[in-house]
Amino acid sequence: MKAARIPRFGTPDVFSIDDIPKPTLKQDEALVDIKACGVNRMDTELRAGVYGGEPVEDFIFGKNIVFPHLPGVEPAGIVDTINGSPSGLVLGANVVPHSHLSCGTCSYCLTGYDNVCPEIRVLGVQTPGCGGYAEYFAWPTAGLISFKDTLSFEQASALLVNYGPVWFGLIERGGLKEGETLVVTGAAGGCGHAALDIARMSGVRAIAITRSPEKEILLRNAGADEVIIDRAGENWAEEVLELTSGRGAECVVELVGAATWPRSVEAAALHGRIVVIGSHSGLSADLNLGQVFGKNLSIEGITRANRSAMERVIRLAEKNKLVPHIGHTIELDDVAEAHRLMEADEHTGKIVLTLS
Ligand SMILES: [Zn+2]
Repeated sequence: MKAARIPRFGTPDVFSIDDIPKPTLKQDEALVDIKACGVNRMDTELRAGVYGGEPVEDFIFGKNIVFPHLPGVEPAGIVDTINGSPSGLVLGANVVPHSHLSCGTCSYCLTGYDNVCPEIRVLGVQTPGCGGYAEYFAWPTAGLISFKDTLSFEQASALLVNYGPVWFGLIERGGLKEGETLVVTGAAGGCGHAALDIARMSGVRAIAITRSPEKEILLRNAGADEVIIDRAGENWAEEVLELTSGRGAECVVELVGAATWPRSVEAAALHGRIVVIGSHSGLSADLNLGQVFGKNLSIEGITRANRSAMERVIRLAEKNKLVPHIGHTIELDDVAEAHRLMEADEHTGKIVLTLS
């Protein structure tokens, strides 16, 4: 089968389109014929060997990468073959994998927080030889979630690592409610679009932060009620305070990291919640603890979605209540171009690799 792999860390040109054997199925696994795979910021940073400006080996998911590495954390496809228990799946079903494997027996797994499992293994990162940048992948049948054809493969792939964790962070951990205000940093990316869409569906006022003035209309179309341009030398948190009559936002979703963090804390309302899902601009940021206790802030860190959040966003998207915006579809053969597009920040919405 065709697979886009990296023999070492490097620039987008490091990708090699290889012909490798199809995966061999273990007991109770299915072979999935991949039709689309989202490109995630995690993919580009793992490829480069740098996360948030620091060596990827220092990051929790960057340890023990095995070369040649087969990336791809967001595949969607069709069940081709099943070996053993189908776990309710049928051949030919449209499926996405839950984004990771977990032990199933620890206290976190047993209480519904499989995304916190200490034995977590993320697809396309910690599963050597198994990733979405290929024609097929093998995955436990119990870890696959089927979806109706009201949802395209491209849209389904956008749900995995964008909508799932953002839903888990905003709704389940952040307690975001109708009538509240949400600030979205890095709003033009995949998770940013997911946050705007979830806010729109939930009756939440969304304020999008972006460095790109040309993306304002697209962000408004994606669900932003207000768009603030993050210009050098200006403080966008002050604009958030102006837009909220000095109150600030009840919830801030931090998708950028060190570059926006101080403003995110400043923009949060008293008793506000800051949900941290990404820190690509830098892992280490200054934190004014006086603001944290003085404003009674809660800071929620999110890694992946739990299974119930994943199921929830898929069912909502099937009904068209959540509508992932696919900005770019690119053939797997042109994966290097897809990575360059993401690294140049020239994309809007989700970049998805397709396999014909
Ligand atoms: Zn576990």
